[in-house]
Amino acid sequence: MQRRKIVVLGAGPAGLSAAWRLSEHGMAVTVLERDSAVGGMGKTITVGPYAVDYGPHTFHVRETAESRAVIEAIKPFFGEDPLVLTRGTRVLLRGKEYVYPLEMLQVLTGVSPLLAARIMFDYLRATLKSAFAPPTKEHSFEEWGVRNLGRTLYDLCFGIYSARVWGLPTSQISSKQAQRVAKLNLKNIILRTFGIRADPATYFTKYMYPRRGISLLYESMADAIRARDNCVLLNAAAVRLERASEGITRVVFRQDGREQTIECDGVVSTLPLPALVSMMQPPLPASVSAHAARLRYRSLKLIYIALKRPRLTDYHWVYLLDEQFTVNRMSEQKNVSADMIPSDRTMLCIELSCWRDDPIWCAADEDVYRIALKDLLQMGYGVAEDEVEDYYVTAIPTAYPVYELNFEDHLIPVLAGVHSVPNLLTLGRHGLFLNNSMDDNVLLGMKVADHIADNGLVSAAWLEQMLAFMNLRFQGK
Ligand SMILES: Cc1cc2nc3c(=O)[nH]c(=O)nc-3n(C[C@H](O)[C@H](O)[C@H](O)COP(=O)(O)OP(=O)(O)OC[C@H]3O[C@@H](n4cnc5c(N)ncnc54)[C@H](O)[C@@H]3O)c2cc1C
Repeated sequence: MQRRKIVVLGAGPAGLSAAWRLSEHGMAVTVLERDSAVGGMGKTITVGPYAVDYGPHTFHVRETAESRAVIEAIKPFFGEDPLVLTRGTRVLLRGKEYVYPLEMLQVLTGVSPLLAARIMFDYLRATLKSAFAPPTKEHSFEEWGVRNLGRTLYDLCFGIYSARVWGLPTSQISSKQAQRVAKLNLKNIILRTFGIRADPATYFTKYMYPRRGISLLYESMADAIRARDNCVLLNAAAVRLERASEGITRVVFRQDGREQTIECDGVVSTLPLPALVSMMQPPLPASVSAHAARLRYRSLKLIYIALKRPRLTDYHWVYLLDEQFTVNRMSEQKNVSADMIPSDRTMLCIELSCWRDDPIWCAADEDVYRIALKDLLQMGYGVAEDEVEDYYVTAIPTAYPVYELNFEDHLIPVLAGVHSVPNLLTLGRHGLFLNNSMDDNVLLGMKVADHIADNGLVSAAWLEQMLAFMNLRFQGK
């Protein structure tokens, strides 16, 4: 019997896990990856003597049956003696460090008595308001935050930071953006203070990590795909999907400056939806392209700063909540895996978000570095400029799908338009426009392969399953 031929677009966590699982199901798979390496945003790069991820990419371990099944299936890909880490995150607020997720007692005793009183007063007011006049519909992130935390705590911990990350006032961001912090209402913050956990689906404390960087996980997956006589093609950018009434029949890609074609029975795509829509030949209806153009991505500059000291902090990430900062977050790769950085040096990764039409997107690396350095010097960790050994700047154009108010009015027609092609199935952070993490995308990769093995390349049924999945994530489940 002839093996079903499937083309997978993108070799990030979602695409590779789909291709690996499809290989296990005995299908003929070709993965097309535009980049020169696998891993997508979950990739380790080398900068001089340092190995660093795009911000340390730890694999979340949740206490759910789904998470356990994913970890069990992919454990061998983590290599010898993988690290199992406890979440090490801090926030810097008004010049002090707090553990994250927040513990209430620490916040209330850390801020001034007047501010602590305001936090409690606002929270009680918001709780009473919710009890006596519950909102009929919650539109914005700001409405969600003020209702759950009270105005003062919301502004301090989420309002300023989120507006900087998303580049919009939080009154213009959908409450769906709260998916990752949905359990961060004051009740849960207080419960955590007493060691009582919130929902395990959103709240996790453990990570897994390959000792030499996250790339190993995805390189091992690519090896497993190739070992079953399948292909993972690098420097191979998909440019056109040619379709007939039965669906996509040929995928055209460019490699070494030359266009090549693959015949296929179906396509699994993890590409950003606007890019995917623009590749369809003949095009999808104009309304689908118009809606796709309204889906925006926030971009990220990553500024790596090597310091001539063995270590700066004890943490994996430090979130910068205060107004004076321009950057969002700093991470220290060595605290995730000491095997990646020379013993007498440390390497920081500082994240700065922007739009692609902001001047900063095209600014010289040195100018971007200067912004990050200015913030680093005022974090209070005692860094001096002459400690900097070197810096390196890189960028991710489509780092975060942006949930503007009513973004679903554009997303749903795009997903419906794309999945009206019978044998085209999308998944992943960009393929679903879902702000999720790697474990979720590996899960989706495995799910799409099982769906194809069980039902064939039925895109309508896949879309139905994905809309239900996204709905759960939007509810923080
Ligand atoms: C700064 C930052 C830190 C993060 N930290 C963590 C973390 O610690 N833990 C965690 O779990 N998650 C983390 N994430 C999220 C994580 O990166 C994503 O969930 C994950 O990478 C998404 O996987 P994906 O396969 O859907 O997309 P991607 O990783 O973006 O992969 C898509 C792939 O498609 C390729 N591609 C694009 N266009 C084409 C084309 N035309 N032809 C062929 N290939 C193409 C791209 O090159 C890319 O390799 C972080 C994200 C960011 C931005």
